[in-house]
Amino acid sequence: MTDTGFRDSIPRHLIYALGTDPQNATLGDWRIALSLAVRDRLVDAWLASARAARQAGAKRVYYLSMEFLIGRLLEDAIINLRLEEEVRAALAALGLSADEVIADEPDAALGNGGLGRLAACFMESLATLGVPAFGYGIRYEHGLFRQSFVEGRQVEEPEDWLTQVHAWEFRRRDVRLRLCFGGEVVDEGGKPVWHGAEAVMAQAYDTPMIGWQGKWANALRLWSAEPLHGFDLDRFNRGDYAAAAEPEALARTISRVLYPDDTTERGKELRLKQEYFFTAASLQDILRRFEAEGGALADLPKKAAIQLNDTHPAIAGPELVRLLHDERGMALDQAIETARGCLSYTNHTLLPEALERWSEDLMTRLLPRHMQLIERIDAAHAAEKPDRKVALVQEGEVRMGELAFVMAHKVNGVSALHTGLMKQTVFEELHRLHPDRIVNETNGVTPRRWLFSANPRLSRLISGTIGEGWVCDLERLCELEPQLDDAAFLDAYAGAKRANKADLAGWLAAEHGVQIDPEALFDVQIKRIHEYKRQHLNILETIALWQEIKANPNAPWVPRVKIFAGKAAPGYVFAKEIIRLINDVAAVVNADLETNRFLKVVFLPNYNVSLAERLIPASDLSEQISTAGKEASGTGNMKFALNGAPTIGTLDGANVEIRDRVGEKNFFLFGMTTDEVVARRAVPDHARQAIAADKRLGGALKAVSQGVFSPRDRHCYRGFVGNLTGHDYFLVCSDFTAYWDAQRRVDAAFAEPAVWWPMAARNTARTGWFSSDRTIRGYMADIWGASSLDPA
Ligand SMILES: *Cc1c(COP(=O)(O)O)cnc(C)c1O
Repeated sequence: MTDTGFRDSIPRHLIYALGTDPQNATLGDWRIALSLAVRDRLVDAWLASARAARQAGAKRVYYLSMEFLIGRLLEDAIINLRLEEEVRAALAALGLSADEVIADEPDAALGNGGLGRLAACFMESLATLGVPAFGYGIRYEHGLFRQSFVEGRQVEEPEDWLTQVHAWEFRRRDVRLRLCFGGEVVDEGGKPVWHGAEAVMAQAYDTPMIGWQGKWANALRLWSAEPLHGFDLDRFNRGDYAAAAEPEALARTISRVLYPDDTTERGKELRLKQEYFFTAASLQDILRRFEAEGGALADLPKKAAIQLNDTHPAIAGPELVRLLHDERGMALDQAIETARGCLSYTNHTLLPEALERWSEDLMTRLLPRHMQLIERIDAAHAAEKPDRKVALVQEGEVRMGELAFVMAHKVNGVSALHTGLMKQTVFEELHRLHPDRIVNETNGVTPRRWLFSANPRLSRLISGTIGEGWVCDLERLCELEPQLDDAAFLDAYAGAKRANKADLAGWLAAEHGVQIDPEALFDVQIKRIHEYKRQHLNILETIALWQEIKANPNAPWVPRVKIFAGKAAPGYVFAKEIIRLINDVAAVVNADLETNRFLKVVFLPNYNVSLAERLIPASDLSEQISTAGKEASGTGNMKFALNGAPTIGTLDGANVEIRDRVGEKNFFLFGMTTDEVVARRAVPDHARQAIAADKRLGGALKAVSQGVFSPRDRHCYRGFVGNLTGHDYFLVCSDFTAYWDAQRRVDAAFAEPAVWWPMAARNTARTGWFSSDRTIRGYMADIWGASSLDPA
């Protein structure tokens, strides 16, 4: 293809691909035209990568995940292809602003939060490292809901990202696989044969995931459910239009929505169908590829490393055994061994309500052959470990965590603390039986998106100081260390942060009508709203601070803006109460002329990847305040530290490892440890005791329960306060005093630029280890046995 440059290529796509006259083109039209022009530049590298992997007969990594929270793709592609300058110039020549065009793209919100974002960071790192890989998931018609607020309450609207042209995907007409549900298993000549009652087609759509400098690209293959046959022409011709369309509607239900809840099981049957749908389609695809390249089935583990991101694809164990044993005649024991050689499983949570279990009845109804195979797998495990007590089916339920564990050759936790707790709690017995199976792979984030692209000012400063090598070798940030006491460097570092904050303040004023002081401390908590993440601890401290400022308005307060963002699962009533309370507090506090020079509260709607990219580079303080033992790792914590926002946090998840690296003086630690949490919960009346011991906490709770923030409905937070004083499972009250004190240490440090900026800069210089490149290298070495084909 001759390179005529973007200047020609963008209008050409606009006219010939979209059929749009440049004179009438909207911003969206131009954005799609630009996306197609950029896409042209990556397709060659993408096809070449696939060809190289085939020719090398390389082992592929297959990452199976119910969620891929990839966000916007245009900017990512421009950055990784290093086309920033060219695109800017071409758009300027067309009279367009690159920032506006890029911001026009809707986020692909195919995930709830951290788990889905991790999958997206992994896809980017796999491509950057040149590892042949596929991501496999579901092409949800409606991603995570769009959040807005009405009178402070969360309102959910359907996300319809696919109603626009999605420029990044390729529908693979030749990759259409048939899948069954239900029916029965019959004995045919001594062989069990599954006759499904219902069938759907899984249609593949591929989105290229391009690595740094465009050298390698892998496919994210998402499955869309379609009916076996188009529609029923007979019925249609008889005038029965609704019935004619029925099979289509039923099939499509499977890929219609992403369940907006990552911690509790709901919509049971449909959810299990979704899990089987994408897992079975992916395994068929993997075997098809393996068989096309030739080789004995027993060698499958040499060619395919299949990672299960949480238990959602845990049905992969029995399904792969079924494909090998029932459909290809491999002996059962060998099929189990072979499947285990391929499979590995990442555990993401120790919350008991989030460990998936399916009733035996449902499993038998939907996947009768799999239910039999689960029992055979369990029996084989019992034969191998006669003293085993954990069964895969207990009290009429199939335990998906245990199933994933038993069928995996490696099981990993996502931070050192979490992996240790896994061994002591959920998988205690399985760990004793298989002491080499559990490994740790601490999460990471991709530095291309979370530093290079999101924070161009800081990136330029870093590259100007140590060169650009850090972008794909993030631990080189430690080369900044000699600069950390240099006044000129620290000035420049502070200057980049100040400019980012001024941008954010301008955007908040323009988009949300909120005025904030760019010199104030930007204190940011953005993540899913969940009791264990304790946004309510933060808002109670905010209330107490407001009361204290009112009592001493002339004290030298450090101005603060408390920024929140995050979605609550639609059925999670208490989380929604937290959102409403934060919004109600914001309304009262922001209108208080006595205090609002010092304190503002902002809750931004519709948290997603793009909002995170906007907020994190402009943050001063990272709120990571979960009840110790509950946050498996966190990745938000890493993004903030890298961008120079020190953490106020508990000893939980990867906070522990962040603190180890940045140094205890550069981390605002507070709160109970995991062991102390367990001990504290056993104290009767722990919450009331904590409230009695801290006047500030008592005062804040009193204001909430008396309706200070809900003047039109004074008693609406009685239940909320009752929960905290009576129950308080997540120990908000017991950690309050320590949190308050830590916040005052933050104030003191922020008030001293000579203290604050070296601390912030140390967070950047010392968190290079949290690159997802490092995490992926860990998986490659410890779990997958995969290698890089990067030509470089
Ligand atoms: C990083 C990220 C998360 C994960 O945040 P945690 O603080 O680790 O829970 C969730 N959502 C989005 C959009 C993210 O970018």
